[in-house]
Amino acid sequence: MADKHVLVLGAGQLARMMSLAGAPLNIDVSAFDVGSEKIVHPLTQNVIGHGLNNAIAKADVITAEFEHIPHSILDICQQSGKFRPTTQAIKAGGDRRIEKQLLDNANVANAKYAIITNRSEFDDAITYVGLPMVLKTALGGYDGKGQWRLKETTDIDATWHEMQQSLTATKHQAIVAEEFVPFQREVSLVGARRANGEIAVYPLAENVHVDGVLSLSTAIDEPKLQQQAQQMFSAIAQQLDYVGVLAIEFFDLDGTLLVNEIAPRVHNSGHWTQQGAEVCQFENHLRAVCDMPLGSTQAIRHAAMINILGQDSLPKEVLAMPNCHIHWYGKEKRTGRKMGHINVCGNSHAELCQALKTLIKVLDEAQFPQLKQHINQL
Ligand code: ATP
Ligand code: MG
Repeated sequence: MADKHVLVLGAGQLARMMSLAGAPLNIDVSAFDVGSEKIVHPLTQNVIGHGLNNAIAKADVITAEFEHIPHSILDICQQSGKFRPTTQAIKAGGDRRIEKQLLDNANVANAKYAIITNRSEFDDAITYVGLPMVLKTALGGYDGKGQWRLKETTDIDATWHEMQQSLTATKHQAIVAEEFVPFQREVSLVGARRANGEIAVYPLAENVHVDGVLSLSTAIDEPKLQQQAQQMFSAIAQQLDYVGVLAIEFFDLDGTLLVNEIAPRVHNSGHWTQQGAEVCQFENHLRAVCDMPLGSTQAIRHAAMINILGQDSLPKEVLAMPNCHIHWYGKEKRTGRKMGHINVCGNSHAELCQALKTLIKVLDEAQFPQLKQHINQL
């Protein structure tokens, strides 16, 4: 018998990995597909029930694996008193207007911005924010989708034309115009907070995106940057009275961090913790939402993660590599889809780099574009 039943809104790989991490603690995880309203087993995808109210009734705790959830569903979950972190945090993760307001309220540095719903606000934003700028839909953006780069004044009309289509396609849509940040690199901090205010954060990860999607994430040990990130993490988590794992993406601009965005959930850039940390992000999320003591976030070895996109097999040599761990998500193959990841480890930075170089020799370069060059830069 399980000690706790946790319901996850969303039935993808994050719910799956929570389920795997929860089993040793007798935490039983089921997943709710918000589209079909089916309750499914997160590992097998077998249907085990129907309807939100049934799902809520069976759960001790409800949490979420993604932020683009209809507010009507979130509000019902909130009313049950079982939802963690808070629906406000999920809403902030799913709406860049709320997110930007949150960052300002928490007093953390973020890119200068303006909100646009019509042409005259767009013109005002160009004056206030300046060019170059990055334009992002407030609702529905992920993996770099729903974004435009505006560099030249000659492109203003064409960009407006495209943005206008997005504005009208979705109810309550808006565009957030942000100054372009000429960062050197992107890093993220994943950490957990418990209801009593206890916080435990992992080492920062340095992230490389290819075509807007995370490709490579490497845990780094940089005390000064870590301290900055941790301070901002605490400010945001406290502001939200957050419970669970929270991820924050940053731009590193000459050693100063600016918050790019938050993810109110376990995060792709924290997958390395499965092999690289004492207790992984999935277990710590469950511990936090079930109000159990948090596990150690200490790194136990050097680790990196490589995303597997759009393919469902790897050369058999990978499985035989002593420093590589494959995690498949059991999903049907689709172009560009996140299908799994490989965690790579080493006892030192040099050993990790060596393991990564050995690995990329057997991977198909076309399936992992630009990866070799990024690994060589570590
Ligand atoms: P995710 O899948 O991480 O949720 P997303 O689609 O929600 O991504 P962002 O993380 O906001 O969107 O942006 C995607 C990428 O675009 C960032 O990782 C960064 O490389 C680049 N980017 C975003 N905003 C800016 C900015 N203001 N200046 C420069 N580059 C930016
Ligand atoms: Mg992002």
